[in-house]
Amino acid sequence: MKLGLIGCAIGRHRVDPAKVRHAHGVHAGRCRCCSAPLEEVTPDVWQKLQVRDAGLGPRSFG
Ligand SMILES: [Zn+2]
Repeated sequence: MKLGLIGCAIGRHRVDPAKVRHAHGVHAGRCRCCSAPLEEVTPDVWQKLQVRDAGLGPRSFG
């Protein structure tokens, strides 16, 4: 894997510009390294989305 995963481990994800979407006034995208869902909190600062029902697993997303 790439060095980017080290950034992911400390919460510094790298968004994939090709997958950024604009929804409800915020930019949402996915990390190009670990595919985690991200939202842009301030320009150039991406934060991993908190999954509300994390206990149910990722399949509850859809
Ligand atoms: Zn990541």
